[in-house]
Amino acid sequence: MSVSETAYSHEYIHNILKRAHCQGPELSVGEIEALLSIGHPDGLESLYAIADKVRKDTAGDGIHLRGLIEFSNYCRRNCLYCGLRRANRRLTRYRMDQTEVLGVVQAMAERGIKTVVLQSGEDPHFTQARMVSLVEKIKSRFDIAITLSVGIRSQKDLIAFRAAGADRYLLRHETANRQLYSQLHPDSRLGDRVEMLHALSELGYDIGTGPMVGLPGQTYRDLALDIDLARRLKADMFGVGPFIPHPDTPLSEAQEGTAEDTFKMIALARIVLREVHIPVTTALTTLDAEAREKGWNRGANVVMPNGTPAPYREQYELYKDKRCLQDSLKRCAVCLQMRVQSVSRHISSGYGDSLRSDRQRSS
Ligand code: SF4
Repeated sequence: MSVSETAYSHEYIHNILKRAHCQGPELSVGEIEALLSIGHPDGLESLYAIADKVRKDTAGDGIHLRGLIEFSNYCRRNCLYCGLRRANRRLTRYRMDQTEVLGVVQAMAERGIKTVVLQSGEDPHFTQARMVSLVEKIKSRFDIAITLSVGIRSQKDLIAFRAAGADRYLLRHETANRQLYSQLHPDSRLGDRVEMLHALSELGYDIGTGPMVGLPGQTYRDLALDIDLARRLKADMFGVGPFIPHPDTPLSEAQEGTAEDTFKMIALARIVLREVHIPVTTALTTLDAEAREKGWNRGANVVMPNGTPAPYREQYELYKDKRCLQDSLKRCAVCLQMRVQSVSRHISSGYGDSLRSDRQRSS
């Protein structure tokens, strides 16, 4: 990661850490930046211990499962880091039909999963009518919350999806640094994403956002601003994963982000944002096989089992060498149960609605 190295005195860091447990939500951007710069094992241990305590107080011991279905890898955009970008002609494109998606949702519901995440590139084929039909069918057949992760959509679409029963919406902002955002996203504007997140919130969705860690040129200041943006948006979910270069993109030669910086972001997000759901992402698990256990002990409380069937799962290639490509939902459930028990936690049987006291509602 290209990060500006800023020196802080041990005493300065120690004083911020002392305040972080009780006054985390009030930490300034400069103080968050200082904590992100911690590199010494003792400092990291203190940071993670505070995050774990805050997690226990605000989110409890339950770990929520969000069942992921990547239903289309078509995308009209050209984000420089992403394997799904429209200029990538090497990728085999697919769209799942409604019957296939409903089949996966059924399998998830039978396994007790209470949230399905419908994720795709920005695919115009999935018109408002098609999405509404899918959401309505899922809601009428299954007792399950729906999270949409389908990129920028019009206000009319968002109203229609919400009326059809969609509960939540994930729209990562990727970086709060406007200049860096423009460099990486030739055909979209950070301001549009932020505006849409506000609109989603006003429409009653639980909203999720978050950055990528280790983007070329990114600094700890930028990452602190990412947390600050989520704080100002009153985000219900904060997803953070490392940048992993994809060989068929303009950033193929760039250095990847680190697991350690991503863990620090998980911990700081928990300390500052408090009542927020934080997943251990597949990208982080790809860098570190023990990421789930470590992440759950450092502020996270969510994991996203992937239900996308073969051959599509391999073709949803945001980056290379994704972990758990071959695991069925059944195998994944056994693996997760063992991992959750190993950190003395339990799989939550709830819907995993917003933790924010001002937004709680039943699905
Ligand atoms: S990051 Fe999202 S919007 Fe950008 S190219 Fe990839 S799938 Fe499309």
